[in-house]
Amino acid sequence: MNTQKISIRYISLIALAILGMNGQYLPAFSEQVASPGDESSSNNSRIDELFNVALAKLKQNRPDEARDLLMQASKLAPTSAGIHCNLGLAYMQMANLDQAIDEFEVALKYLPTMTEAMVDLAECYRLQDKLDKSIEWYQKYLELRPDDMSVRQTLATVTAQSKQPVSDKFGPDYLREAIAGEMNRWPKDKSTITVFFDRNTKVPGVRPEFIGILRDCLTEWSHALGGTITFAESTLERNADLVCRWVYQPRQGRDDLLLNERGNASLTAYRGQISHATIKLLTAPSLVGGDVSAEIIRKTCLHEIGHALGIAGHSPNNNDVMFYLVESPTVQSHLTERDMETIRKLYSLDGR
Ligand SMILES: [Zn+2]
Repeated sequence: MNTQKISIRYISLIALAILGMNGQYLPAFSEQVASPGDESSSNNSRIDELFNVALAKLKQNRPDEARDLLMQASKLAPTSAGIHCNLGLAYMQMANLDQAIDEFEVALKYLPTMTEAMVDLAECYRLQDKLDKSIEWYQKYLELRPDDMSVRQTLATVTAQSKQPVSDKFGPDYLREAIAGEMNRWPKDKSTITVFFDRNTKVPGVRPEFIGILRDCLTEWSHALGGTITFAESTLERNADLVCRWVYQPRQGRDDLLLNERGNASLTAYRGQISHATIKLLTAPSLVGGDVSAEIIRKTCLHEIGHALGIAGHSPNNNDVMFYLVESPTVQSHLTERDMETIRKLYSLDGR
């Protein structure tokens, strides 16, 4: 039998934005606030303290606390580009993209060559689907860092994307993107999909609550389909139709696609009928040295199960679970009406 292996992946730069902040802004801001006198050195140590605690809060997924600390630090060192750049990241984590953009722009006003702020700005505009502005900032970044092949690749992706027609972002569904030229669905007579959960607790970052999250996400998709597909757990991997694995990869390579999508789905399908799927879910944190949040795990699970059910492409609306940047703070942690309508339409089209 001919089988077709399909891997669905996409690239996010959020990981990159976060890599850039790992402590390296400190020298930039220390230089700017350094001035002679005891008073300023005590100020400096206070700024250091606020800055370091704020970074720790960002890593613990507590952006509002990080923002408060960074705002205090900013009062003491108002022209520190590093502080403004991290304030931008805090606002990004809080899904406040407009304010994040303002902060990155302030950072660039004080340090016009700050490439981290440029790439973050490009990412924010991408998340807002303002692709022309996004492209402009990726280009400015590449003028200073021409050897960054990962950003070069992202720029090519965003440029191609900006030329593609997309369906109405606010319409009832994104069926056109979901099909993306190839329609694969679980067969009509397959109303129960058996699922094997990899319970290898040796994978770093795995927490016991993740299995519950995965179960909830499967149920959510099943409800969206009106219960016409249900999931049953299997303890034997070889008997399972759908295999779910946790994987951990340290944040070292920016080109790592699994890292960028926070997961992937591979399907085995023949003539549009899916016979098997494997999803891999990343347990590595968004921030170096941080904790992965339950919310990110939930969004990733929902997203990859969506692919495993046959949604091949991505929604152009940044609220939908199937938006192409699953790590975006704008993505909802439950299926949107559009996600549900899309899967229902996909499964009600003829030929299944
Ligand atoms: Zn995807």
